[in-house]
Amino acid sequence: MEYVKTIDEVRRIVSDVGRNGKSIGLVPTMGYLHKGHQSLMEIAGQQSDFVVVSIFVNPIQFGPNEDYASYPRDIERDLKKCESAGVDLVFAPEVSEMYPKGILTHIEVDKVTENLCGAFRPGHFAGVATVVNKLFNIVQPDMAVFGMKDYQQLIVIKRMTEDLNIPVKVIGAPIVREEDGLAVSSRNIYLSREEREVAPILYQSLLKARVMLDRGEKSPSEIKKAMEKMISSKPYTRIQYISIVDPNTLEDLAIIIDKALIALAVYIGKTRLIDNIVWKDEV
Ligand code: AMP
Repeated sequence: MEYVKTIDEVRRIVSDVGRNGKSIGLVPTMGYLHKGHQSLMEIAGQQSDFVVVSIFVNPIQFGPNEDYASYPRDIERDLKKCESAGVDLVFAPEVSEMYPKGILTHIEVDKVTENLCGAFRPGHFAGVATVVNKLFNIVQPDMAVFGMKDYQQLIVIKRMTEDLNIPVKVIGAPIVREEDGLAVSSRNIYLSREEREVAPILYQSLLKARVMLDRGEKSPSEIKKAMEKMISSKPYTRIQYISIVDPNTLEDLAIIIDKALIALAVYIGKTRLIDNIVWKDEV
């Protein structure tokens, strides 16, 4: 496995790989890797010949009051995880490598960024789309894997690649969970022991929604009410949003017919966690 920090080195390596007729798969991450990231690496390995993992805590996707400075970082640990997952190249640039002159150019994806997290994190998805675009230009992958944990991000990146004719196949990977259902996240280490104990309520509330839908409930507000009641019954919780939307357009549903994304963002103490399920798993 190679580990590089500059764009020039990545370009040299991937052009050799391309010349040898090998396909390239990219897994963009912010590091502090866990088994969710490793499942993305596995999928990239199954569908391409050469796997690149990028590790970059991207400052332009964090709001002024968000956790950019305190976001967990541990490159040595990450390199070991990449090595054991069979990754071929790790690209972990400094901020000065990615934004040597700051940045004046941003990619704005409309509509699908308005709802859900987009409503509470202004500028976040422009920051994500812009850095992913840069990574696509640097690595020039044939395919890239994104987790459905960040469902809105996946839709934004899919739409950006379609709209801009970027020749990268974007693949969505299922959410990896802890045994008690909590979606694995780098941010879970922020949780105190007491907070960690209540955190599985998020997934439990999504499962409750699924049961209601399977039994024929069609009203988003009834489902949201039941979820709110479950989550609010636990200490440390503060709901930012629970939304029931079309899985493709991310527009609010007035009535649920055959498919829905149920997505939530909830603070547990000071830690903001997100989770979702797709009802009927049709994306
Ligand atoms: P992050 O490092 O948190 O920016 O995540 C990098 C990629 O890993 C994103 O595409 C995430 O959606 C994905 N990811 C993070 N956590 C999980 C998880 N629990 N299951 C599946 N994918 C995940």
